[in-house]
Amino acid sequence: MSAALRFSSRMNIKFNNVTKKYGIIVAVSQITFEVKSGEFVFIAGPSGAGKTTLLRLILSQTKPTSGTLEIGNVDLGQSKKHQLEKIRKKIGVIYQDYQLIPDKTIEENIALALDIVSYPKKNLHHQIDEVIRKVNLTTRRFLYPSQLSGGELQRASLARALAIDPAIILADEPTGNLDLENTWRLIKLLKDINQTTKTTIIMTTHNSDIIDSLDKRVIFLRDGMVEKEINHQQKQ
Ligand code: ADP
Repeated sequence: MSAALRFSSRMNIKFNNVTKKYGIIVAVSQITFEVKSGEFVFIAGPSGAGKTTLLRLILSQTKPTSGTLEIGNVDLGQSKKHQLEKIRKKIGVIYQDYQLIPDKTIEENIALALDIVSYPKKNLHHQIDEVIRKVNLTTRRFLYPSQLSGGELQRASLARALAIDPAIILADEPTGNLDLENTWRLIKLLKDINQTTKTTIIMTTHNSDIIDSLDKRVIFLRDGMVEKEINHQQKQ
């Protein structure tokens, strides 16, 4: 097995007593949990509970004020920039507002993500073909974001996240702007990806219908703290 594969297959995420403060605001407080490689976990809780802050910590967009956060046994708070970049390149992200670049086509948006992770040029077209097919957007490949519906935009954003062969996908309220049909379509895609490729998926949501539909582990946050945790899979 290559070094890169060994590294990604061990990308457990470990929060150990993590507190994040913004000035006097405590966004998350004394959070401890571990997400094992290949798990599908929901982070639930009302607005302001600290869900997005947890994802920003995983992405090294911000550092813990205290406590430690490890990904693949690398302590993010103690790591050098190149180590953080290496981890960041194995994380795909999708957002409620898609965050596609408006003046680039869907294909160009995906190509840009591949360029950022220095994806081998000779495999670029094949990889773009694959991910666009996976999310069923073959006919939208050369269109611009303004020409796509909400459901298509979120699937394009998922294609971009998948293109880098992520070990982890973070989905921040990804169904927040979608209608019911597209919500379930996206959830099915995420579930299938998790099952077939063993990509870790961490999804924030306050939609209890989605949480109830999947029987996955759920970490409930309130006021920055873990209020409770449900692990349907352990109960079975
Ligand atoms: P959620 O995603 O559950 O809605 P957030 O993680 O966005 O919650 O926010 C948690 C708390 O931290 C909120 O009180 C929010 O106002 C605060 N917060 C988040 N980001 C910042 C920031 N950059 N500066 C100041 N306060 C912030």
